[in-house]
Amino acid sequence: MSDPEARYEVLVIGAGNAGLAAAIAAAESGAKVALLEKATKDLRGGNTYFTGGDLRFGWSSLDDDVLPLIGSISENEIKQMREMVTPYTQEKFYEDIMRVTEGYSNPELLQQLVSESLPTIKWLRSLGHVWYPSYDEPGASVVVTMNGGGARLSDLGFDVAAKMGVDIRYQNIVTELLKDKRGGINGAYVLTPEGYTKIYAKAVVLACGGFEANAAMRTAYLGEGWDRVKVRGVPFNTGDGLRAAWDIGAQSYGNLSGCHATPQDIDRPAFSVRIGPALEYRRHGYPWGVMVNVNGQRFVDEGSDMRAYTYAKTGKAIMLQPQGVAYQIFDKKTAHLPKGYSNATGAQANTLQELAAKLGLEPAPFVKTIEDFNRAVQPGTFDHRDRDGKCTRGLAINKSNWASPIDTPPYHGYGVCCGITFTFGGLRINTSTQVLSNWEAPIPGLFACGEIAGGFFYMNYAGGSGLMQGATYGRLAGRNAAKLAKAA
Ligand SMILES: Cc1cc2nc3c(=O)[nH]c(=O)nc-3n(C[C@H](O)[C@H](O)[C@H](O)COP(=O)(O)OP(=O)(O)OC[C@H]3O[C@@H](n4cnc5c(N)ncnc54)[C@H](O)[C@@H]3O)c2cc1C
Repeated sequence: MSDPEARYEVLVIGAGNAGLAAAIAAAESGAKVALLEKATKDLRGGNTYFTGGDLRFGWSSLDDDVLPLIGSISENEIKQMREMVTPYTQEKFYEDIMRVTEGYSNPELLQQLVSESLPTIKWLRSLGHVWYPSYDEPGASVVVTMNGGGARLSDLGFDVAAKMGVDIRYQNIVTELLKDKRGGINGAYVLTPEGYTKIYAKAVVLACGGFEANAAMRTAYLGEGWDRVKVRGVPFNTGDGLRAAWDIGAQSYGNLSGCHATPQDIDRPAFSVRIGPALEYRRHGYPWGVMVNVNGQRFVDEGSDMRAYTYAKTGKAIMLQPQGVAYQIFDKKTAHLPKGYSNATGAQANTLQELAAKLGLEPAPFVKTIEDFNRAVQPGTFDHRDRDGKCTRGLAINKSNWASPIDTPPYHGYGVCCGITFTFGGLRINTSTQVLSNWEAPIPGLFACGEIAGGFFYMNYAGGSGLMQGATYGRLAGRNAAKLAKAA
């Protein structure tokens, strides 16, 4: 067993994507590192474990930047990629995040994320991670997905960290940060299976996620209704690191009242705890159909943009509906497009009236909504892979893309609720990954990365950016913490 009151050079708190990147980078820099994780070994991996492994990064050359990431690929597939995919430059990446966050994203942090994204994904490749091409929706700008998804990202990360000599301590729950006489941070107060202990280090990296699994904090910061939502990730991200840091004067920063939340199966469990692949609960097919609430009314433009740019705000739109639920409706022409719906909670019927009854909706208003929608659909060519401009006109809420009349049986309806993924607000960091205090100065010895750091995402999000933020800032924080520790 590890020495309970141990001393390290770098202490990393939280073993998700960001924490693993930080621990590995610090160990690579020659530091003696401990990685503290709240969960048991069986339940390790944080939200990272449940991700699909999509990573968004800026690139300009398919040959130099993208193909080297891919494990094996046929000549035919390379040809197809050349035809379908256009470079996703750093400028586009930056613009996309600024656009979806309505200009709120911190420009300096965002620029660093964007320019470090390619070096970071190459670094992950050097650690042994491999990707496969996933460009079936080129308009979404994510062109590769990790082999084995988040589970592999996590498991391989733990293997690499262990091989590099990182001391990984499970069931180590950080409750407070330790301060030295000069106002710096020199360790953490930790609840272990043997009781409370102090673990000292020259530098501490906070990587223990947001507060999405804490119903009281959700209600306090996100507002009314967020106590009742489901959590797409683990039950462990309860804002412990945030509160510990705020207690010693760290600055709160970013979109504290905002979060990433998506449509989920109406019957999904409250959390994801290795009860099966969490992704099977996601219900992200709404761009190709319509969504109605329990009164049979539409409430969003389901086709305002590619799914990757709307799904993270659509959970909130559902949460705000009566009873916090909605129904996604497709007909025979589009029912094959939503991915992962084979076990979805819902119904099929040959008439709209029958579908409404099976879903427990009042038929008349539901049928009127669909018939009004059908009449408003404009001519055009439906193309599910990119913004097709096929829209409706004249409705109170129009659909901007992928508007196709729902007129061909069988009709399909799926019940959905809101699942929170992670919270957007957190600690303020600078481009050296140091945590800033309420008096605007870096707190000596304290670094942060991953979802605990605020300032990147506001109101909305672009798919594949969370893992990239965690890996990029984890790698930087690990290096910076090791540098400080070595200099001390
Ligand atoms: C179902 C799902 C799918 C997703 N898919 C994608 C995707 O494809 N692409 C993408 O970019 N993003 C995706 N995301 C978002 C992604 O999960 C996050 O951006 C990323 O994993 C966050 O990494 P992190 O290291 O900050 O947090 P986490 O991975 O959640 O790690 C935080 C860790 O801190 C630990 N911890 C918490 N409190 C303490 C404490 N007091 N002491 C010690 N340890 C503590 C937790 O147990 C946890 O292991 C998805 C999220 C979910 C839930």
